[in-house]
Amino acid sequence: MSNVIAIANQKGGVGKTTTAINLAAALAVAGKETLLIDVDPQGNTTTGLGIDRTQLTMNLYDVLAGTRFLAEVLRQTEIPQLAIVPATKDLVGAEIELVGAENREYQLRDAIVSVRDRYDYILLDCPPSLGLLTLNALTAADSLLVPIQSEYYALEGLSALLETMNLVRNGLNPRMYLEGIVVTMFDSRNRLSHQVVEEIRAHFPDKLFRTIIRRNVRLSESPSYGKPICLYDPSSTGAQDYSELAKEVMTHGENNVHAEKGIG
Ligand code: ADP
Ligand code: MG
Repeated sequence: MSNVIAIANQKGGVGKTTTAINLAAALAVAGKETLLIDVDPQGNTTTGLGIDRTQLTMNLYDVLAGTRFLAEVLRQTEIPQLAIVPATKDLVGAEIELVGAENREYQLRDAIVSVRDRYDYILLDCPPSLGLLTLNALTAADSLLVPIQSEYYALEGLSALLETMNLVRNGLNPRMYLEGIVVTMFDSRNRLSHQVVEEIRAHFPDKLFRTIIRRNVRLSESPSYGKPICLYDPSSTGAQDYSELAKEVMTHGENNVHAEKGIG
């Protein structure tokens, strides 16, 4: 059974998409069958993996609208263990059309059911809002991973996100939990970066990933080549950091299995 992880933060530009693409790729390279679902109408995950959105005949919108199965829409990537469900601006329509639908928060969860046993990990890249698409992702997910940029006001908005998570836990998806918080765009020469890490550690001592994603220009270049960092520049600090993050996520999974079995 797969582990479904929603990557969310309603702030834009904090590293959600960069984390979704490169964590998914690192998990795949580590041998895990991985599916990355682009839940953002901006479709940056889709283009970041080299898919031309204008050439797409179907995307996640068609799945949420109920006219396609997820399995029809997903595509293989350059990495054999990594598949993607692309998104286009059509997805804006889903957010509006779903409002009147019955079980509107469950559409993504229900769409994933049929492919869940094929994957070890399913990652959901969320849009920068707490709207219906993000709610669908949180309802479909086993856990939430929150990227936080090390900058001023890093924690601003985090309480709204965690409130939304608790609302979802109290109704739509009681088993969902906080996988962890990952600091992105860390600059070791900048004192503020260190302060942000300490602040997050103080608030969430056992939820901060040990791996910190450093600022690395190669990470910002790779999407324009349509490649994840592990293919674009395997020796970069960005590739190293996301590989470390993948290892940590994989250990979490093992610990959770142990916890369920009452071992750990
Ligand atoms: P979000 O999906 O949360 O809006 P993105 O992943 O698109 O955020 O990142 C926002 C911008 O920051 C992008 O231009 C991306 O290339 C850049 N970026 C993200 N992480 C890093 C990093 N660790 N180092 C350098 N640039 C980064
Ligand atoms: Mg994004």
